[in-house]
Amino acid sequence: MTKITLDIHRFPCLNDNYGYLVHEAFSGETAAIDTPDADKYLAEAERMGWHISHILNTHWHPDHAGGNLKIKQATDCTIYGPAGEAEKIPGIDVALKQGDRVELGRAIADVLDVPGHTLGHIAYHFAEQNTAFVGDALFALGCGRVFEGTMEMMWNSLSKLKALPPQTTIYCAHEYTQSNARFAETIEPGNARLTEYVTWIDAQRAKGLPTVPTSLEKELATNPFLRADVPELQAAMGHPGDAVATFAEIRGRKDRF
Ligand code: ZN
Ligand code: FE
Repeated sequence: MTKITLDIHRFPCLNDNYGYLVHEAFSGETAAIDTPDADKYLAEAERMGWHISHILNTHWHPDHAGGNLKIKQATDCTIYGPAGEAEKIPGIDVALKQGDRVELGRAIADVLDVPGHTLGHIAYHFAEQNTAFVGDALFALGCGRVFEGTMEMMWNSLSKLKALPPQTTIYCAHEYTQSNARFAETIEPGNARLTEYVTWIDAQRAKGLPTVPTSLEKELATNPFLRADVPELQAAMGHPGDAVATFAEIRGRKDRF
């Protein structure tokens, strides 16, 4: 059996979003991951010679679903999005929740509910390709602000992402890494792996290069928001044995940083 691969095209959108087009070559099907900028997505698809057949929305925020209707009008694509906030997803055709699967040609994405940033936020995990699109749930060295859910809900969502295979490549929706790095250094100044990562981040950004995607293995070792269950970090934050309180403390500090 041949292995099904995905071609993933990344391009900057708006101020600091990333657009992604995911192409499954056997079928020719192509998914737009979120739609920050319809014109940019349509132009990039044309440049690649790909036809957008799917939109996979992670959550309702306009920098993620704002281009839905224009892209649908131009391509007649099918729009998939979170069941938990379906009424806020323009043009939604298929509402998805935990355990649902989306077929992109021969590739299959498992849907994960990862609420917290918004109440319906979902992620798409292409298990065979070790690839996950996580929207604003998880960032390189960061995580989304907890706008609609609770700290406990967000920690549970991040714990779900933590449990994916460490070799998973994580595609997040924003280039926030360098400012996240400045903050992460204040939380774990003694983390050698973090120091090494930050050196690489600063070099990438100095050259105008992206830091996304990242790998789950690297984030598990360095991302303070994924490390709220590490005893040393819990002690440093003043909440020994309490991952939710530690996560809440770190998230609160970042919001004020
Ligand atoms: Zn958002
Ligand atoms: Fe966003």
